Amino acid sequence: MIHLTKDNDSPETLVGNDADMELSRLEKIVDDGEKPTYKDFNAGIYGADDVRKQLLIDQHEKCAYCECTLLDKDGGEVEHFRPKTAYRQDRVKGNTKKPAYYKLAYNWDNLLLSCHACNSIKSTFFPLANPEHRFDLVKELPLLINPYNDDPANHLEFRQEKVFPVVDGNGKKDEKGSKTIEYIDLNRKDLVERRRRVLYRFVRTMSRMGMSFEQFLQQEIQDEISDGRTAESIEFYGMFANQKYKF
Ligand SMILES: [Zn+2]
Repeated sequence: MIHLTKDNDSPETLVGNDADMELSRLEKIVDDGEKPTYKDFNAGIYGADDVRKQLLIDQHEKCAYCECTLLDKDGGEVEHFRPKTAYRQDRVKGNTKKPAYYKLAYNWDNLLLSCHACNSIKSTFFPLANPEHRFDLVKELPLLINPYNDDPANHLEFRQEKVFPVVDGNGKKDEKGSKTIEYIDLNRKDLVERRRRVLYRFVRTMSRMGMSFEQFLQQEIQDEISDGRTAESIEFYGMFANQKYKF
């Protein structure tokens, strides 16, 4: 995971009349004492082409969470950081609560693009450090990393192909890093295997060229930039940038 910067302007579809009308409809459902279900949300708005296109650009065409490339996966899925239908603070059975953050269903700041695996594993999990402040967006302290708001490097580090929470000087594991790894399953088998292959190819070439890790990473970055791509567009770039071992 790497730090991302979102385009300041909301895509047109999210600020149009249709989005306003859909939001009013959701508010009416809740005012009537009901809970919006999946079918009450309009994927044609939050997942509109202009939203998806801008997120693809802002995320260097990669999943916001695991950094796998999205171009071979139909451009990924538009994901709500704060879940729209239901939320869970933890894994306790029967602890799924509704309604959730339905007001943010069409909110640009709440949208990311992710791969299908990350989206479905994250599902309704949205743990807070201070659950008593849930829905108070000023006070809420989410325990999941939002790469648009947080710098993942402050919470996550890689030891070879596996990701771990950063550990502070007192040996305490970063809680946001821990929960993010757990609830998005960032060490799932297929992901670790793909990272391993990318990393070992990198290390092999690096040794052949007699370069240090930093020198080689720098060269790779230069090559990417001369190709007209940014360094951050390298698949699993966070693994290299936040690598604890320097080989
Ligand atoms: Zn992913």
